Amino acid sequence: MRDILGADFYTYQGFFEKASEIAMYYGFRPIETPMLERENVFTSGVGKETDIVEKEMYTLRVRGGEKLALRPEGTASIMRAYIEGGMHTMPQPVMLYYYGPFFRHDKPQRGRYREFFQFGLEVLGTSKSIADAMVIQIMTTILKEAGFKNLCVLVNSIGDKTCRPHYIRELVSYYRKNMGDLCGNCRQRLKGNPLRLLDCKELQCVALKENAPQSVAHLCEHCKEHFREVLECLDTIKVPYSIDHTLVRGLDYYSRTVFEIIDDEDLICIGPRDEQKKPAKENKEKDGDVEGAPEERALPLALGGGGRYDYLAKQLGSKKEISAVGGSIGVDRVVEAPQLVSLTPRIIKKPKIYFIQIGFEAKLKSLTVIEVLRKARIPLVHALSKDKLSIQLAIAEKYGIPYVVILGQKEALEESVIVRDMSNRSQDTVKIEKLEDYLKKKKV
Ligand code: AMP
Repeated sequence: MRDILGADFYTYQGFFEKASEIAMYYGFRPIETPMLERENVFTSGVGKETDIVEKEMYTLRVRGGEKLALRPEGTASIMRAYIEGGMHTMPQPVMLYYYGPFFRHDKPQRGRYREFFQFGLEVLGTSKSIADAMVIQIMTTILKEAGFKNLCVLVNSIGDKTCRPHYIRELVSYYRKNMGDLCGNCRQRLKGNPLRLLDCKELQCVALKENAPQSVAHLCEHCKEHFREVLECLDTIKVPYSIDHTLVRGLDYYSRTVFEIIDDEDLICIGPRDEQKKPAKENKEKDGDVEGAPEERALPLALGGGGRYDYLAKQLGSKKEISAVGGSIGVDRVVEAPQLVSLTPRIIKKPKIYFIQIGFEAKLKSLTVIEVLRKARIPLVHALSKDKLSIQLAIAEKYGIPYVVILGQKEALEESVIVRDMSNRSQDTVKIEKLEDYLKKKKV
């Protein structure tokens, strides 16, 4: 967890403004959910045996005995809000975006914080493949506008409740035959969460997954059709993608489409980045292999990910199934990337005026003058705690601010200020009530 201030704060803010503007143009509306939720929103939603819930969730017991958790991700909370808020009565699908901090007690490593920021999109109330493609399209657009030029979407389909059980049986049977070669963790996971074996980064398990059964080969007709449509949409909107048969993602609630977005010029992708000059390397992020070899560390981390979650609503207690799809961008990874272009937030204004006050009378009047300038939308800087003219003028010079407004004892009594043009040192005395007009004429 860190403090974010100064230029870093503005970079986060600039990214958020750009991302939310794009989401808004696509018809999304904002939502903010509480940082604390009842723990079972995540145990039931994300899944008890996922790393996020089992090992990484910050939980606390409050007076009265209720167990709460600091939100480790956004989707379960948003589905909870959809159910509780009766959003099924609104025109469907409901399209929401969110931004904020999330918390996972992960081991400290490259690209992983315990408090991190995500910008996310959720489309709730539709099973249509166009919604999956739209979420992927918007996320890649946001990343493109943030400066990433070699984006590739790794995509897979993990089927639904009709076809997945059959696939899981095949997977378990494959791994059972190779039990001796599995790492200790995976031997455990094989009982509760066999899909996660495809996620394992241990060398012996990475080798095994190459020949593991692939989910796409076991899809039922509906899921096959859905996946084909998602890929067709991505082709049409020219989003570069690569099918990754081992991509399953860590959370229990996913069904059908799962995806991750990386920025990697070496990866072969279908779509506009079709140059295909370079050999493909393994299409998988190596999250947090901090102890690994240097070349492993250089592999790209996922900038974002997501998928469809058609069964989450029922897991959270809804009587009806609510089909939905969403994804989120890891903002910390984006703002730390060297590719990032400067995204200046609207709140940053280059100061046009340095405001100087001298003497107690002037200090008293200062806030009145600053308010006049704020109403005129003229940004300024000042040092109200300083007393001496020379010190304040030196600061103005240092910042290279074009105009200085000086309020001394005499000016304070006469309800006026001195405006000095720093380029030629000329100055005028101006009544405070006329200050806005005067500065506008000077095109400040
Ligand atoms: P997830 O919620 O795990 O699907 O993650 C979505 C995105 O959030 C990832 O692709 C990362 O970019 C980012 N992310 C996830 N966990 C962390 C973390 N602990 N620190 C920083 N970024 C993270």
